[in-house]
Amino acid sequence: QAKGAGRNTLRFFDPRTQANVTARTLLEAGLRDGLRDGQFLLYYQAQIHQQRGIVGAEALVRWQHPQRGLVSPAEFIPVAEASGLIVPLGVWILRTACLQLVEWARDPQTAHWTLAVNVSARQFRHSHFVDEVLGVLEETGANPHRLKLELTETLLLDDVEDTILRMDTLRALGLGFSLDDFGTGYSSLSYLKRLPLDQLKIDQSFVRDLLTDANDASIARTIVTLAHSLDLGVIAEGVETQEQRDMLASLGCHTWQGYLFGRPGPADALVQSVASATTW
Ligand code: C2E
Ligand code: MG
Ligand code: MG
Ligand code: MG
Repeated sequence: QAKGAGRNTLRFFDPRTQANVTARTLLEAGLRDGLRDGQFLLYYQAQIHQQRGIVGAEALVRWQHPQRGLVSPAEFIPVAEASGLIVPLGVWILRTACLQLVEWARDPQTAHWTLAVNVSARQFRHSHFVDEVLGVLEETGANPHRLKLELTETLLLDDVEDTILRMDTLRALGLGFSLDDFGTGYSSLSYLKRLPLDQLKIDQSFVRDLLTDANDASIARTIVTLAHSLDLGVIAEGVETQEQRDMLASLGCHTWQGYLFGRPGPADALVQSVASATTW
């Protein structure tokens, strides 16, 4: 046992752990500099309705690192969360998204588009979150009815009373809410019914093997049925093929997002894709 304990003690000095800690600290410092130096940008990915074409977009943050190039949010959002930097970064994301909405509002071709913004847990729970959203809306003049927040199940259910309070306040301003990555968490149906949501977003993990995995197909079908019975909209993410799109349509999901319709990219690319679009 002494040996075992010794091993555990030694683990503290594990150079791999040490390397991880160092990497994390460096990344954190980099994020701080990046925020100061304007290294972040938003990409936009179209959301398509079967009859209406582009109905909006999702904003996806990117980090343009001076040495590393474009860094994926999967890598830096968790670090931004853990360090609390997600709070100022989140405000920047909201402001940039709202400025984009203001720009779209000037063009009749894009004026009706909604913009979905991902919000992470620490950002949402921050004591000033609701005030910050309010402030950004006032400052930018964006139409709150065009702004949609994407929240996850774990975030929503962490403190349901607090969640409902915040959602109700924002909802009164006109904001909408989409439940991101739906099906991967632990939503109980009674909570789902209480939350003031507008839309469920079928997680891409169920879309991926929709045509070959009967379980995924029945999960997708169940989510669509659930959305309909709760009077919510439903969108599928990660739609990459025509076959997936057709299958989703046959299951009753007529709004989609994914590489089939366009990769996330600069706002200009999205506006240009409207011009080239024929039918979906
Ligand atoms: P998410 O919100 O579920 O976003 C969907 C992810 O799927 C995005 O990855 C998107 O680029 C990717 N995607 C879109 N279409 C397809 C497709 O057809 N196939 C496949 N395989 N993937 C597709 P991305 O941009 O790397 O973002 C990853 C995650 O990082 C997001 O997942 C979200 O949780 C987080 N994130 C991104 N931007 C923000 C942000 O502004 N704020 C916060 N808090 N989190 C963000
Ligand atoms: Mg999302
Ligand atoms: Mg998602
Ligand atoms: Mg996802």
